[in-house]
Amino acid sequence: QAAAWWDRKADRREGRDLVQVLGTLHEAVDPSRLEEAWQRVVARHPGLRTVIRSEDVPEPVQEVRGGVEVGLKFEDWSDRPEASREALLEQWLQSDRLRGFDLDRPPLLRVTLFRFSECEFRLVLTYHRMLLDAISVATVIHEVLDDRVGDRTPGDASAVLFCRSPPPDRTPDVAAEQAYWRSHLRGVFGTPTSLGIDQTPETIPGTPRAWGEHAITLSADVGRCLGNLAAKNGASLETLFRGAWALLLHRYNGEPDVVFGVRSPTGGGSPKEPSREPVGNRTNTLPLRIRIDESGSVEQWIRKMGIDEASVRPFEGTSLPRIRRWSEVEAGTPLFQSLLVLEGPSLNARLRSLGDSWLTREFRVLARSGCPVTIHCHPESEPALRIVYEKGRIDDSASARMLGHFARLLRGIAEAPESPVGALPLLSDAELEQLESWNDTRAEVPQVRVTDLIEAQVARTPDRIAIAYGGSAWTFRELDRRSNRIARYLQRQGLCPGARVGLLMEPSLEMVAGLLGILKGGAAYVPLDPELPEQRLEFMMRDARLALLVTQQRLRTILRPRWPTPVFLDSVWQSIEAEDDQSLPWPGTADPDAYVIYTSGSTGQPKGVCVPHSALVNLLRAMRERPGLGEADVLLGIATISFDIAGLELFLPLITGARLDLLDRRIATDARALAESIAEIQPTVMQATPSLWRMLLESGWEGDPNLKIICGGEALSRDLANRLLARCGSVWNGYGPTETTIYSTMHRVENGTGPVPIGRPIANTRIYVLDSKLRALPQGVAGELVIGGAGVARGYLGRPDLTAEKFIPNPLAGGEGRLYRTGDLARHVAEGSLEYLGRTDDQVKIRGFRVELGEIEFALSRHPSVRQSVVLARHDGRIARRLVAYVVVDRSRKL
Ligand code: AMP
Ligand code: MG
Repeated sequence: QAAAWWDRKADRREGRDLVQVLGTLHEAVDPSRLEEAWQRVVARHPGLRTVIRSEDVPEPVQEVRGGVEVGLKFEDWSDRPEASREALLEQWLQSDRLRGFDLDRPPLLRVTLFRFSECEFRLVLTYHRMLLDAISVATVIHEVLDDRVGDRTPGDASAVLFCRSPPPDRTPDVAAEQAYWRSHLRGVFGTPTSLGIDQTPETIPGTPRAWGEHAITLSADVGRCLGNLAAKNGASLETLFRGAWALLLHRYNGEPDVVFGVRSPTGGGSPKEPSREPVGNRTNTLPLRIRIDESGSVEQWIRKMGIDEASVRPFEGTSLPRIRRWSEVEAGTPLFQSLLVLEGPSLNARLRSLGDSWLTREFRVLARSGCPVTIHCHPESEPALRIVYEKGRIDDSASARMLGHFARLLRGIAEAPESPVGALPLLSDAELEQLESWNDTRAEVPQVRVTDLIEAQVARTPDRIAIAYGGSAWTFRELDRRSNRIARYLQRQGLCPGARVGLLMEPSLEMVAGLLGILKGGAAYVPLDPELPEQRLEFMMRDARLALLVTQQRLRTILRPRWPTPVFLDSVWQSIEAEDDQSLPWPGTADPDAYVIYTSGSTGQPKGVCVPHSALVNLLRAMRERPGLGEADVLLGIATISFDIAGLELFLPLITGARLDLLDRRIATDARALAESIAEIQPTVMQATPSLWRMLLESGWEGDPNLKIICGGEALSRDLANRLLARCGSVWNGYGPTETTIYSTMHRVENGTGPVPIGRPIANTRIYVLDSKLRALPQGVAGELVIGGAGVARGYLGRPDLTAEKFIPNPLAGGEGRLYRTGDLARHVAEGSLEYLGRTDDQVKIRGFRVELGEIEFALSRHPSVRQSVVLARHDGRIARRLVAYVVVDRSRKL
């Protein structure tokens, strides 16, 4: 039977499927007698003379050769310093692994003897996995060493002391095997089931792969419970191990259907019973596919798996290369990334059961499956679990956590078999506590409005410059008095508390006064960027049911008669001047909306996010501390008001006494002009999207060591971060959707390598990384970033359906408040930070602007000549990311 699953050269290079047995012998050993013993054993067992022939045959076949000699290599290390021997031996073992074997040259086996002293030797047996299974290797070692002792005649049945269960009495039916495996793996293609925590290895060609290992033991109680549970439900203990591993993979990668490798031992290995089986390897490695259904109870699921496993049994003998070939997985791609091995008794335990001199000998098996992760399960009374992982691909601590989660799932199964599979806990109590304390961001939340914070600042620094624009400037007192007058004037025009007022203005001192006037009147402002298309502006005005539209004369030409009655702040200035300039009593409810900002909607229409004062106040108070702003600061405001980050630029200086310098949109979008303004104004703080920072650098801007940079709105790449760090005072990465009020995390970026984290939650904010069923995920595993706390907006204006879908009650145990589902993918990384990984949907960012591709596709589909369309955000070479639409035109119509 062909079992050549070692079919790739690379596998050989990496020592895959090569096993080393290391024996420690505290006795005198004669090398030449040992060599003779080996030769006799090899002559006796055809299995040890097996090679794989792949030339001149349609598919690789096993061939038994005659006249094979196994030489013994002897190394006398007795004169080497004692302290260095073990390390030398480790090195030697590694180079021995790299040597591999030529598969067609017998024997696929070699023996090396090291002399450490008169009575201390090391014996290394290196062989290809195909040659020997656990029982056979014990048999062979037993025969060799006892032959050397010479007091027993080897070769007779009584000397073979390990029993194995007889192999299934059948001839393989290839057609049936093929049909079975094809259907088992139907639809499995592309990349193998992801482990959820693997990284691209940074392998340097020629360097061997390094491996790490962790172990955990389950209690005897858990072991007993699992055994009983398996027996009660017609399954084996192995089924439970497999089920728990499948579940772990599913929780880690979110896929409902997982594939991993399985390997089981043959025979029990009770000594003193003669085996009639020849020496060889009858274990087989197989792919196992499990579809996860988390709705039923654990017990129902075990029964189902038990039945499925019984159906594989007749096809357990099929070789892995064949199964691979029958699958839809491309050649060269592994079928699986993880392997679950059910271990029998260890080699050491088997040999020690022989008693006598075997009690002083130690044997250790060194084997690497070649999979990035192998889980070994030792079903003893206290089941031991081991993870062997490839360093560089799997992080040391991530693999330890992974093993912990596997154990946690098994304990969960033992504790509550009647509970639904979906309720099985993955995280340890310690991990849950850690998440809890990470999220403990409680800070004082004063029950005030933004306008209260501003008025308090006016009282502190009435004569300092508050805002400057185009050569003019207003002090805090001037700004405050003007906005008080505007508020009173607007109230006379019909503004009432709780109303929404459009703010269609270009950056200017009046724009800020108008905005404050709206807020002081108890209303919410709806920012309307004059550069937006007419239909878009009109949609927002209609959707927001504006009470008023605050604008300015020079925008008169873009106004439409059907729009709300405009108030031209600049033409009614005289009437405004006539109003009382003292502060107004708060006219509204305790916590009304401060603004409603529209963002792209996937179903074709933008949606208005309603942000209450309390959320804005919380954000501003947090930002005052980190990144920090004070009276000595000058902030350069460049964001368009329709982008929520403008809220930080406009309000943060006003509550901290810093000066706000506003720039024209024309300057703010032209890198050279912007660089000139920066040089002239010398701001100490500036916020912009990564795209804009990049544009600035590319225009030749040299930075400023006194400048604190806040990056927000889209992912900050490492290379940009480092370039900015080299040129500026400090760089902060802020993350947050409009729905949770500008920023929900803030991270001070350090020079370094690897992705730039987005940091941790700001004050009074809780962040969770959840799977699709809203269960918390462990560190390192990607899930949806979900945000709770003071920043969570009220919802979408007039869209209860959408609000209910995105703003959900906190589903976590003991969790309170509402959570906003961002649709962002993230994971917890070391040092208590979060890393942003992308989106779960079709939302993209173009120069910081949030765009739902679906909204554009919807707009295209309304054109009579467009039959179908797809929109992508493409990044082509050096061209900045842009939107590209592909359309299928209906030829019967004119475009
Ligand atoms: P917006 O509502 O315009 O603030 O857009 C919010 C979205 O922008 C988030 O859900 C993220 O997808 C993305 N985003 C915002 N800030 C960052 C950041 N610092 N890093 C990566 N993505 C970000
Ligand atoms: Mg944002």
